[in-house]
Amino acid sequence: MNLTSETTYPSEHAPLVLIVDDDAVSNLMLTQVLQQDGYRVLSVDNGQAALTACKQELPDIILMDAIMPIMNGFECCQELRSAYGITCPPILMITGLNDSESVEFAYDVGAVDYVPKPFQWAVLRGRVRWTINAHIDHQKLQQTLAQERLLRQELRLLNQQLHRLAAIDGLTGIANRRVFNETLGNEWKRLRREEAFLGLVMIDIDYFKAYNDHYGHLEGDKCLCQVAQIIQTCVRRPADVVARYGGEEFALILPHTDFEGVIHVGKMVRQQLQELAIPHAASEIKPWVTASIGVVATIPSPPNTSKSLINWADKALYEAKNNGRNQVVAHTIDGFKLMDSLEDATTSVAS
Ligand SMILES: [Mg+2]
Repeated sequence: MNLTSETTYPSEHAPLVLIVDDDAVSNLMLTQVLQQDGYRVLSVDNGQAALTACKQELPDIILMDAIMPIMNGFECCQELRSAYGITCPPILMITGLNDSESVEFAYDVGAVDYVPKPFQWAVLRGRVRWTINAHIDHQKLQQTLAQERLLRQELRLLNQQLHRLAAIDGLTGIANRRVFNETLGNEWKRLRREEAFLGLVMIDIDYFKAYNDHYGHLEGDKCLCQVAQIIQTCVRRPADVVARYGGEEFALILPHTDFEGVIHVGKMVRQQLQELAIPHAASEIKPWVTASIGVVATIPSPPNTSKSLINWADKALYEAKNNGRNQVVAHTIDGFKLMDSLEDATTSVAS
């Protein structure tokens, strides 16, 4: 090692070495050797000054003399470890050649290795290089892991958003057909276990094609949104699901709801539409938008399936259409139909 050879000037991106030593000569020698190896070097002469220097810029390695005035190397090492935790720069403790006690203590307080004094330059330079590389690799790994964590988090958020979007009917903002199918299947299974009623209400706007023809599709869309909103006001419980089933057809899944319950909800929807009174000049029955409503309720049990429930509600809806629209028809398992009359909200047995 030729300490008098011309010093190369390290770039601003070179690893930073902090030398902490009260011995001015060894401080100077270390600085020259390490600068020649391309490092940026900063040197201070006690532990307290080292703590201050670290606050300015955290070095990539610290060469720390064990015995110093004001604050010794062991104490400083402990302070740094507790202040910076896993981001603490690696510390090489400078110890006396035969001072095995200091070496042991250095490891105890968190130094990664030690270098004995007087310095063997090849050993020192090798340890500094190896330790800095390991530290930089470790930091890169930590950064990569942090980025991956961030990406995973973003992905999770995007997935949630996607899931929400995939569940919502784009026009009306209520649940879509996919959610309807999923929910009905799940509720069927759940209430079969609980041996409790599951209610289904199917709602179809009367003369909606005529509405579109008369008012145009934009007004038609507006009408669908208004109807969706009014249907939503007719259910209150968290497990109730209001979904857009098709073009002008809506469905309500009502867990723990028996016949009286579904008929009540069906009547309420009809009543609300009457009060909302969206003008419908092309309707053959009323000057406002009305709906035909089929309702059903059953305790899920084989051989029936959730599809049976949809079939029954569909049949009831078909019956309501056939009977003159703007009414609620209930379909029982035995085929009985209970009807909400055209003008008032009373219920009668049709067949
Ligand atoms: Mg000393």
